[in-house]
Amino acid sequence: MENHSVYLHIPFCRTRCGYCDFNTTAGMMLHIPAYVEALTREMRSVGGRSGQKVRVHTLFFGGGTPSLLPPKSVERILTTAREVFAVQPEAEITLEANPGTVSREGLAALRAAGVNRLSMGMQSAHAEDLQLLQRGHTAEDVRQAVRWAREAGFENLSLDLIFGLPRLSLERWKITLEEALALDVEHLSLYSLIVEEGTPLARWVETGKVEAPDEDSAAEQYEWAMERLEAAGYVHYEISNWARRRAQGGHWGSLHNLQYWRNQPYYGFGAGAHGSLNGLRLVNAAEMAEYITRCAAGESQAYPRGPATVEVLEIDRETEIEETLMVGLRLTDEGVGRQAFWARFGEALEDRYPRQIEQLTREGLVELTDDRLRLTRRGRLLGNRVFSAFLGGD
Ligand code: SF4
Repeated sequence: MENHSVYLHIPFCRTRCGYCDFNTTAGMMLHIPAYVEALTREMRSVGGRSGQKVRVHTLFFGGGTPSLLPPKSVERILTTAREVFAVQPEAEITLEANPGTVSREGLAALRAAGVNRLSMGMQSAHAEDLQLLQRGHTAEDVRQAVRWAREAGFENLSLDLIFGLPRLSLERWKITLEEALALDVEHLSLYSLIVEEGTPLARWVETGKVEAPDEDSAAEQYEWAMERLEAAGYVHYEISNWARRRAQGGHWGSLHNLQYWRNQPYYGFGAGAHGSLNGLRLVNAAEMAEYITRCAAGESQAYPRGPATVEVLEIDRETEIEETLMVGLRLTDEGVGRQAFWARFGEALEDRYPRQIEQLTREGLVELTDDRLRLTRRGRLLGNRVFSAFLGGD
């Protein structure tokens, strides 16, 4: 049976960061027990109707701030997952953590519960950047969290960083990246700051309180990071993600996120979570109270819908092909395999997109090798230009 993944959305944060537009709530931690109950009900309801137990090779607690969950709750959720799915013994189990919310004992308890990968939001090494972003943690919290995680036995750590911040010079960005490198983690995610509509940051930019981020500076910081991380031995395996090589071959890339980028099936549990399987895209009720009420009522819908599913979209073949290209091209090293494309869709990639491949190759943005189609180094900087060329078929 095909491997599936499980995403678990944990929509709780202590406070809301000024740039964030994720589906999360601040100061609602009192509701954690009811939410965990709802989450386990949802998993049982969906998993229980899947016929035979589905093979699961990755689970991902995302948020929000999943590190606010008591380790006992994490353990309960994982126990439920193991009851309703065939969770593989070597499954990658990731939890996103805000370094300001972890403790030595808490991390040890998470590791004991079965979490084997932590993804921590470092964002910057500079106090003024962290203040601007309203992150609620310091650079020292990050160093300490990494130390504690290693003591707890975590062998797979990831740090998120943000570049392209207002007033972030290349020199200051270099300090952030060097600090992250010094922490010697297996994986780094580098995101360009996006000013999302409706956030406090968008208001500050509109009113001139904060300078708008500068695209050219962001591009310069990204290019420098590509070179520096390559020199440090990291594999640039996805537009925004880098991983160290594993001693036994391969690299420490996020198996969970690779599932998305390879357009393979995943369940989404929790408020506002999305799932994609059996030719359907499923969306849950986003609002926490509605999500909890729906899971408590437990109204059953046909598999793979769950009690909180409020939107279902059928993925036709054309959409699946397009999406496979869009997400697969993000994989800068692996790209879209020609053989895999043929096996999945029964036609050759170059027959499907002859004009786009020819033109983008001429512009130096993609390369079609014997076995794959992928972005060139220049294409990584102009990814959106490439993706839009493939949208809308021929
Ligand atoms: S911790 Fe993450 S999810 Fe929570 S408000 Fe900040 S950026 Fe958003």
